[in-house]
Amino acid sequence: MYSCYSCGKTYSILELRWRCDCGGFLTLLEETTFSRETFANRGYSIWRYRESYQLPPHAPSISLGEGWTPIVTERIEGTEVRFKLDYLMPSGSFKDRGASVLVSLCKVLGIEELVEDSSGNAGASMAAYCAVAGIKCRIFAPAYTPEGKLIQTRLYGAEVVKVPGTRQDTNDAVLKAATTIYYGSHLWNPFFVQGHMSAAFELWEQLRGELPHSIMVPLGSGGYLEGIYRGFRTLQLSGLVRTIPRLIGVQAHNCRPLYEAYFLGLDVGAPVETKPTLAEGIAVSRPPRASAVLEAVRRSGGTILSVSEDSIRTAHALLLRHGFYTEPTSATALAGWLQMPVEERENSIIFLTGHGLKESEKIAQIHGLKV
Ligand SMILES: *Cc1c(COP(=O)(O)O)cnc(C)c1O
Ligand SMILES: [Zn+2]
Repeated sequence: MYSCYSCGKTYSILELRWRCDCGGFLTLLEETTFSRETFANRGYSIWRYRESYQLPPHAPSISLGEGWTPIVTERIEGTEVRFKLDYLMPSGSFKDRGASVLVSLCKVLGIEELVEDSSGNAGASMAAYCAVAGIKCRIFAPAYTPEGKLIQTRLYGAEVVKVPGTRQDTNDAVLKAATTIYYGSHLWNPFFVQGHMSAAFELWEQLRGELPHSIMVPLGSGGYLEGIYRGFRTLQLSGLVRTIPRLIGVQAHNCRPLYEAYFLGLDVGAPVETKPTLAEGIAVSRPPRASAVLEAVRRSGGTILSVSEDSIRTAHALLLRHGFYTEPTSATALAGWLQMPVEERENSIIFLTGHGLKESEKIAQIHGLKV
């Protein structure tokens, strides 16, 4: 059952719907089962926990083996810190968790074609899973998007629609298309968020229930943080964990609507002026699920940090020196961790969300390497 976060109206998940009639975003009513017995003999992917996503019965698992990414421990400035290597995913980013579940929903609903707007990792991920599912995928992107960013999406077989004008014009165009074609939106669709719950379940299993004190994630729309919170909440309701780790979202100073909202005590994203940032993957100026994200941060006892371009560059260089080849967006989480007082850094896990191989030329430029 879907429930509107604003007005509480409920809808069947068998409806082709991505938001409430009132315009509010949807969540799934929280009564998932999570018990060891169900998955003890299953393979290691996000589908190990399939009951928790609340998909309709008989939904297939459209899967490329996503999830169960490694955890690696390093020592940085004298403190041990663990990294969850979520860039090691089939399409090169954590978004495969959400795309795998959302495309599985589309498949069971008999959807043959969908639209989505993303010039980055979400578009590539949706294109990959639509290819597996045999669903036609049309990705809307602003005309100014460099072709290089769209190669992976095109090669998976998605159709790319370039829209002249601003990001807002692309948004308007996809909403228009969405009146007749299903909107498989990573920003709006609650099943995309459901897929992200898997990260919490994995941490709990991989660490044998010894959860970290803090979890650091780059924060864009906040869908990842919201999903991780929902995962831990499910574990808590199942009596498997007592407290939820502090969820700490890190935004780029140049695009920080959730950071501003958090400190102003708002429950929607704050209107902010945005500037370009190295962390392109989290440059979301109007995150539609902001109120759920802010609630997740508050309920976990976490916080939101904002980091400068310089500190992102420095953190990215540090990641490279430790052998992690991620996109600059991922470095915000480490930059946030380095910004915390030393005594707060203990027992943290930093999520590395996107692969660097997608952006080698940009990375070379950032670090002054001539190619
Ligand atoms: C999308 C993305 C994020 C941010 O995820 P949200 O769910 O939008 O907060 C972080 N890192 C990378 C690499 C991404 O692609
Ligand atoms: Zn509503």
